[in-house]
Amino acid sequence: VNFIIAIDGFSSCGKSTVAKAVAKKLQFVFIDSGAMYRAVTLYFLRHNIDLTDTAEINAALEQIHIDFIPRTDKVCILLNGEDVSEEIRTMQVSEKVSEVSALKEVRHALVKQQQDLGKRRDIVMDGRDIGTTVFPDADLKIFMTASPDVRARRRLTELLAKGESVSIEEIRQNLSHRDHLDSTREESPLRQAEDAIVIDNSDLTQDQQLEIVLSEYEK
Ligand code: C5P
Repeated sequence: VNFIIAIDGFSSCGKSTVAKAVAKKLQFVFIDSGAMYRAVTLYFLRHNIDLTDTAEINAALEQIHIDFIPRTDKVCILLNGEDVSEEIRTMQVSEKVSEVSALKEVRHALVKQQQDLGKRRDIVMDGRDIGTTVFPDADLKIFMTASPDVRARRRLTELLAKGESVSIEEIRQNLSHRDHLDSTREESPLRQAEDAIVIDNSDLTQDQQLEIVLSEYEK
């Protein structure tokens, strides 16, 4: 049978960095569930979807097809065949994504796709509700945390490297806004699974984090 590792936590806690490293080491498939919510958000922004109109939301969801394509050093995400890996990381998408991902219809559609992706293969999936809603029976659950300062600085470095002009204050606000929406929404809010291993990585290197997850995997 296949093995499922769920990595959850707030935004910019380094979940996908450790998830990628674990997947590489164990030769598991890495799936970034946040990228799926971001791709849907990008589609909604482009098509001006009215977030209060359920029929419009459902019709839009039927038009959306998401694929992950592994490349040598990264996994690309395709939205209806178009590589949107870069565009889904912009502030414009970050500012809207938590509102879109709070929609019941969106969550139902994506949770189902995520569960299908985890059938019959070993995966590492990172997100907010992977160990609670998507795979409540995951073989290993990790909950990552980091101090707000560390998180904002990480995100700033990432965005500046991409040439986006953004201030640390804007990032702080975006992170706390998303944390709030993600943990208070009605549909599968962000919570720590009771059986999750908590890793606070504020003062850990990436190698140290990888070691912790691997030692839990081997237990
Ligand atoms: O992981 P990332 O920060 O890219 O996720 C972007 C947003 O997608 C989160 O702030 C959250 O609103 C939403 N998300 C979610 N459930 C997941 C993964 C992401 O609601 N499993």
